[in-house]
Amino acid sequence: MARMYYDSDASLDLLKGKKVAIIGYGSQGHAHALNLKESGLDVIVGLYNGSKSWEKAESAGLQVAEVAEAVKQSNVVMILLPDEKQAAVYKESIEPNLKEGDALAFAHGFNIHFGQIVPPNNVDVFMVAPKGPGHLVRRVYEEGFGVPALFAVYQDYTGKAKDIALAYAKGVGGTKAGVLETTFKEETETDLFGEQAVLCGGATELVKAGFDTLVEAGYQPEIAYFECLHELKLIVDLLYEGGFEKMRYSVSDTAEYGDYMIGRRIVTEETRKEMKKVLKEIQEGIFARNWLQENQLNRPQFNAIKKAELEHPIVEVGKNLRSMMSWIKK
Ligand code: NDP
Ligand code: MG
Ligand code: MG
Repeated sequence: MARMYYDSDASLDLLKGKKVAIIGYGSQGHAHALNLKESGLDVIVGLYNGSKSWEKAESAGLQVAEVAEAVKQSNVVMILLPDEKQAAVYKESIEPNLKEGDALAFAHGFNIHFGQIVPPNNVDVFMVAPKGPGHLVRRVYEEGFGVPALFAVYQDYTGKAKDIALAYAKGVGGTKAGVLETTFKEETETDLFGEQAVLCGGATELVKAGFDTLVEAGYQPEIAYFECLHELKLIVDLLYEGGFEKMRYSVSDTAEYGDYMIGRRIVTEETRKEMKKVLKEIQEGIFARNWLQENQLNRPQFNAIKKAELEHPIVEVGKNLRSMMSWIKK
């Protein structure tokens, strides 16, 4: 079994007397900055002049500066910008201000693994990637716990990169839950595959296909919404808590029989073959190239599909139903 690292395997001392720059103050940025600060570390947030996030970070009591200045003042630089913007900001404001022995850090391996950022040889390069959205990373820390995380060392100049990465993981709360060692390659490829094939792409297409099938057959869209989207959360909660076993224990035997008999008619051999193809495109850098190119062209496909998705009937039905669910956070 892969080794898990916990609080007792990490020491914050490696970051004491150092300053950590958090570049970007979005989903991950605000969580890392605030968690590290409350763990007793010296934090500065790096942003651009006119950023919406500037005011937010300052009113949360954080020191804020422009990216170049934040990098100059610090010894660890965690880049929490949108992946497609990192390379340009790195070239312009980060690279020129890195000092020998500094550490460059990431929460996702994309830019290092696909060669968009090529760090100098005289710095450490590591990753701490919480396995959860930023707002959960913050909330769970405030509750006294942590979200599990992955860490990886890409370059160890000081000989202490692994311990610094573990210290950072402890500072954001990760070692309370357990952190797992990986590589930039493994994290990047599995993260992209997971979100494309299962979590985002796979799940939304599955929900839509189920919803469309019922609605086209003449069933009420509201019923289709409950069956195919709303109830998914309840099932996923059971999976999260206790795996397939707990979910199958909790649903009726009728549902369990349907699960065994029908699931493999939905996700077929053909789907599995396509998954392998998707993985290969990720490994060969084809997906990364397409995504970077899409951004250079100002996202023509991204924007067109986003617009079409918002016009799907499930959107309107969902809005109406959710407005009646007072227990759902707005
Ligand atoms: P967000 O889009 O939420 O936040 C980006 C932040 O960067 C914003 O504060 C934005 O400011 C700021 N920013 C944008 N452009 C610049 C610039 N040119 N100079 C300085 N600051 C800028 O990003 P995420 O938190 O989603 O993603 C950050 C990293 O974390 C990525 O590598 C991602 O893959 C990784 N990650 C994200 C997860 C998540 O939960 N979202 C989960 C695990 C990893 P403004 O408000 O002004 O736009
Ligand atoms: Mg991802
Ligand atoms: Mg049912």
